[in-house]
Amino acid sequence: MIRKQAVVYGKEEIGPGIYSMWLKCPQIARTAKPGQFVQIAVNDSYEPFLSRPLSIADTTNNTIRIIYRVIGKGTEILKAKKDGETLLILGPLGKAITPVKNKNIVLCAGGLGIAPLLYLAKNLKKNNNLILFYGARNESELILLKEFKPLCDKIFLSTDDGSKGRKGFVTDILFSAHDILANAYCLYIAGPSEMIKKISNYKFRLSHLKLFGFLEERMGCGCGICFGCAVKKRGNGYLRVCTDGPVFDLSKVAL
Ligand SMILES: Cc1cc2nc3c(=O)[nH]c(=O)nc-3n(C[C@H](O)[C@H](O)[C@H](O)COP(=O)(O)OP(=O)(O)OC[C@H]3O[C@@H](n4cnc5c(N)ncnc54)[C@H](O)[C@@H]3O)c2cc1C
Repeated sequence: MIRKQAVVYGKEEIGPGIYSMWLKCPQIARTAKPGQFVQIAVNDSYEPFLSRPLSIADTTNNTIRIIYRVIGKGTEILKAKKDGETLLILGPLGKAITPVKNKNIVLCAGGLGIAPLLYLAKNLKKNNNLILFYGARNESELILLKEFKPLCDKIFLSTDDGSKGRKGFVTDILFSAHDILANAYCLYIAGPSEMIKKISNYKFRLSHLKLFGFLEERMGCGCGICFGCAVKKRGNGYLRVCTDGPVFDLSKVAL
């Protein structure tokens, strides 16, 4: 885990209120793995006091990419950052996803859940077949499609308003894809907590299918000290999203 000033560049709005930004921080970029995130101190002052967790959406040798929706004070400040400004970041945080080979892997994203799946897809593509199910509110919020196209064998889309793909929730198209799921080794799910919960509790009748969810909780420290991001284990006890996750085998978590 490294704490460094990172230089901002290449910020662009890639959807309504959705931004992509690159951060130059070679030490973090070179050690980062899919599934991990960074904590960003958006200001030099104590306002806001807590750093904000954002997934690593991609890396190069020297840089990491973050993709965020502006929803409150912290992301509003990030939106105003200009090329050349610096941000104090801590990372890479969380457990890396264990790589697999020669498998059929299904990715399911809702909204901004697509961000961490990009980095994962780029890594898994080398040795696996990937199928993406992706839902958003409307066509303009279906971001990163050009980047996913060369990575996936098939892409299925849904929008809440029917402006692109099937009208409805991404879970509707996922649950009807019986043949794809029957041949899949695992399913990586990232998006709103209600979506992850729905998929986790769905009776797939496919005992072989492993479900992994990218969980998000409000976080304090991001490194296991404050227990602010605890989630209930199946059985007894708690898990910390920051250090035990953020990607969990969903059979181990009570959602
Ligand atoms: C491991 C992890 C990875 C994440 N990756 C991304 C990412 O790649 N892209 C992205 O856009 N967002 C991501 N998030 C969520 C992101 O951290 C929050 O959107 C951000 O902290 C909001 O900060 P803010 O100051 O703008 O909003 P605030 O003013 O803090 O909050 C605005 C509203 O959002 C809600 N909220 C804030 N943070 C969270 C959260 N973590 N979970 C649920 N609700 C929240 C608040 O309850 C409030 O209603 C991630 C969260 C975690 C824990």
